[in-house]
Amino acid sequence: MFKSLYTPPITTFGEKASEYLNSLIKTKSNSGMAVVLIDKNFYEKNNNLSFLKKINKKNILLINHKKEPTVQFIDELKNKIVSNFSKISIVVGIGGGSMLDTAKAISNLITNPGSASKYQGWDLLKKPGIFKVGVPTLSGTGSESSKTCVLTNDKTFHKLGMNSKFSVFDELILDPNLNKTVEKKQYFYSAMDAYIHAIESLSGSFRNSYADNYSNLSKNLIEEIFLSNNPKSIQNRSKLMLASYYGGLAISSSFVGLIHPISAALSVVYGFKHCYANCISFRALGEFYPTHYKIFNKMCKFNNIKFSKKIKNLKSDDFEKLVISTLVHEKPLYNALGKKYKEILNNEKLWEIFNRI
Ligand code: ZN
Repeated sequence: MFKSLYTPPITTFGEKASEYLNSLIKTKSNSGMAVVLIDKNFYEKNNNLSFLKKINKKNILLINHKKEPTVQFIDELKNKIVSNFSKISIVVGIGGGSMLDTAKAISNLITNPGSASKYQGWDLLKKPGIFKVGVPTLSGTGSESSKTCVLTNDKTFHKLGMNSKFSVFDELILDPNLNKTVEKKQYFYSAMDAYIHAIESLSGSFRNSYADNYSNLSKNLIEEIFLSNNPKSIQNRSKLMLASYYGGLAISSSFVGLIHPISAALSVVYGFKHCYANCISFRALGEFYPTHYKIFNKMCKFNNIKFSKKIKNLKSDDFEKLVISTLVHEKPLYNALGKKYKEILNNEKLWEIFNRI
């Protein structure tokens, strides 16, 4: 058995690595314009950073992700970009997982015609996108190193990625100075996304030595960071950037498990953001991941992270949507529970799980 693995060809890593962005933009925009998509919250908190000051304002679009990117949002943004920018040669995404996924999707849609929904699934993109650069400012989702960009569809209740070799960034810039101003809780929730990628991959039936090794690297780094006295020290912020990157590589060659489908359903139906939705889903799934559940709880306690009950009086029409949005994730569920996953996750079991959240 062998498989081809796609990873970003160039990664510039280290403190102040972001200073390199401007020369990269200059080189790549010889033949066309640069579109620089920046997370609005990050920009407002950090616009004194010298690399941001150097970017020409006419190339910047600030994006406010109130919720996870939807196909409708991506289609509108792409139309806005192609009508405002002529001949685009580079797309840069600066922000967290939603921002990185947005940048990848925009890059892909500039060369592949039609709506984003056409490409949700596996290997549906026909052409490489525009040269794309990822600059994470939040670590955990692994979007920077994965070959997907996840989008929700409000009409079908699906949350699915453009899984394709063309969804890999052409260059990455990992600068641990950029996740310095992230709020403590958000820092924790995002990191747990990487932790969950690792443990789901390690507990699944699609395990392989490539994914296992990256999962273990990521898992061990995260436990080390969040059981230390200063998770946000510069050393730990550097480690977290790597843990997130390794988690993305692990998932690219294996699958997530049960936590992500439940989490995706919570995002689609209630609008919870991915990393937070993962944490509250994990809390309801201890029976499926007993060993890591204990460590997860220990990290929550150590960092004084508390969760309150989120689903009270679950309504039957919401439950129906939650079931559809969970069961659409066939591969992860098969990975976690085997081919009889529908029997295990029957309505009774799902009702019990969602009522625990
Ligand atoms: Zn995730």
